[in-house]
Amino acid sequence: IGDSKDFDTETKSVCPFCGVGCQVSIKSKDGKVKYVEGINGPANEGRLCVKGRFGMDYIHHPHRLTKPLIRRDDAPEKGLNVDPANPWTHFREATWEEALDKAAHGLADLRSYYGGASVAGFGSAKCTNEEAYLFQKFIRQGFKHNNVDHCTRLCHASSVAALMENVGSGAVTATFNEIENADLAIVIGSNPTENHPVAATFFKQFTKRGGELIIMDPRGTAMARHARHMLQFRPGTDVALLNAIMNVIVEEKLYDRQYIEGFTEGFFEFRDHIRAFTPERMSELCGIGADTIRTVARSFASAQRAMIFWGMGVSQHIHGTDNARCLISLALLCGHVGRPGTGLHPLRGQNNVQGASDAGMIPQFMPDYQSVTDPEVRSLFKHIWEGTELLEEPGLTVVEIIDRVYRGDIKGMYILGENPAMSDPDVEHARKALAKLNHLVVQDIFLTETANYADVILPAAAMPEKNGTVTNTNRQVQMMRKAVDSPGDAREDWEIIVDLARRIGLDWDYDHPSQVFAEMKMSMRSLHHITWKRLEQDNAVTYPTFGPDDPGQSVVFADGFPRRAGRAKFTPARVTPPAEVPDESFPMILTTGRQLEHWHTGSMTRRATVLDAVEPEANCSLHPSTLRKLGVEPGGMVRLTTRRGSVDVMARSDRMVAPDMVFLPFAYVEAAANILTNPALDPYGKIPEFKYSAVRVENPLTE
Ligand code: SF4
Repeated sequence: IGDSKDFDTETKSVCPFCGVGCQVSIKSKDGKVKYVEGINGPANEGRLCVKGRFGMDYIHHPHRLTKPLIRRDDAPEKGLNVDPANPWTHFREATWEEALDKAAHGLADLRSYYGGASVAGFGSAKCTNEEAYLFQKFIRQGFKHNNVDHCTRLCHASSVAALMENVGSGAVTATFNEIENADLAIVIGSNPTENHPVAATFFKQFTKRGGELIIMDPRGTAMARHARHMLQFRPGTDVALLNAIMNVIVEEKLYDRQYIEGFTEGFFEFRDHIRAFTPERMSELCGIGADTIRTVARSFASAQRAMIFWGMGVSQHIHGTDNARCLISLALLCGHVGRPGTGLHPLRGQNNVQGASDAGMIPQFMPDYQSVTDPEVRSLFKHIWEGTELLEEPGLTVVEIIDRVYRGDIKGMYILGENPAMSDPDVEHARKALAKLNHLVVQDIFLTETANYADVILPAAAMPEKNGTVTNTNRQVQMMRKAVDSPGDAREDWEIIVDLARRIGLDWDYDHPSQVFAEMKMSMRSLHHITWKRLEQDNAVTYPTFGPDDPGQSVVFADGFPRRAGRAKFTPARVTPPAEVPDESFPMILTTGRQLEHWHTGSMTRRATVLDAVEPEANCSLHPSTLRKLGVEPGGMVRLTTRRGSVDVMARSDRMVAPDMVFLPFAYVEAAANILTNPALDPYGKIPEFKYSAVRVENPLTE
């Protein structure tokens, strides 16, 4: 992919990688993608990053699953032991009929013997909105339970919890492109140059025209050189830093009194709470000087229009919800919500994590974040789903489900496009749990680490091989179109879900994703005025939209919030230490994340020729002084050990990492970061603390 201009078919679609949701033109010939160009989508305006431009040939990789597979009766014990190029000692090929029967009957048998709660589902933010909707319906209607979740639990569940609580909506209040209208922007706990590269180009443009960028991150980022202030605070002290900033705004009365009176509640309790967090006291904790805290606070409060962007550096902590609550309070204090150039924007990760969450693939909410505990909501879905009684009790979340599997309470799983054998914290525990399942159905495009543990594997179409809608970080619902056929017998996910549903006794009748979309509209106000036909014609519509000719609202909440009396809420946050802190045995801090070239668990990007050539080897980043102390040259190996396990990995010298930290990307199975990570959860968002584990770093040659 990349240099051939020889094509016969052009398809307008959406990039399958990150939540920016760049629109692409896929040029193909003879069923193969030849090259990809950016087109003028509302988020990308023609731009693409290296993944979108050069990463799509993963779909033609020889490891693609092309036939249904069934575990052999004489297969070796389940474990991470299957060669994706030669799986035949573990699996045999099957027809679709046989595989679907075995997959469905295995789940239905567990339902009969142990009840619906013995089965759980992990769906995928890599599927379309229609597939996410069908998947959660499959679990809820088929098993009368809410044990359905997906990777939002591992990225922004805490942000969504805080936004739902305090603003009344889990989505962004303004598109990232609104930065064009801002005077100041805070980017905290996010490395957009690597993780949201096209969004990062808009951020850089903003600084070029004089916008004031403030970066806050324990790890230096490439974006910092464009920033007026870089606050490299101590890991895990976000609340201390943010409360100190708000203390200045409160004590110096820099807040927007009129906005607070008109649009918020809880200010006076919040004001009393925040008084204890003086810059001097918090400075000792977070490592940022009191003067810098004051300067930043005054700049934010005096800006006419300011935005706050955040990533998983904020959300992936046991105090992730508190971190997001602070950011919301900061914006509310200064009235930086609801106007052009203002807003709260958690940068969503996967290309359809916003849409998958909107479609209800989360255990406590039906589509459009309607609570399963609300009798009126259950009654609405009983009507739409033809008499289905829904369980009032919210279901379990990703890490909780894996724990119940380990304990033997959950005996069957249907995993669609997720890879918990790589993505879950304390992943050896997750792998042991998966090996215990009586029946595991995995639906995916590759034989992932999770598929190693499957009883039945169903080969699915990749995103450029199917039709459907996806929703990006900006709330833009976009039409994704099929550019090429799937290899072999692989089928679109929605078709497979429908076939399984019929086999577990559900009377489903869908022939096209547009019918699913029409059903979604019956319960989802966010899709009001958005039709399949309109998306086919316009490619993208931002929700909410107030009419067939309104392209949608890039900024929301100008006139109040979808909460009681239309008011957003201040929720005070206390400083909570990380779940485990460095000690003599584990004296440093491990943090994990992504790289520009590799996407999540690497199943796609490590099979993309250009991306894997640029970044072929597992690596970690350490400060040069730390490497010197260890006696390791850049490019040499280090051993990282936490209370969960140990990995050996090549070390890079990186001044952006503090001397007491190590950064480890999680895309590499040969040095799986999640062998090391802590499964401790945020109590509200139930998100694990991926961003902070106590670790020992050693030179393996000197042991
Ligand atoms: Fe794809 Fe995200 Fe890159 Fe855009 S920024 S091309 S959506 S990976």
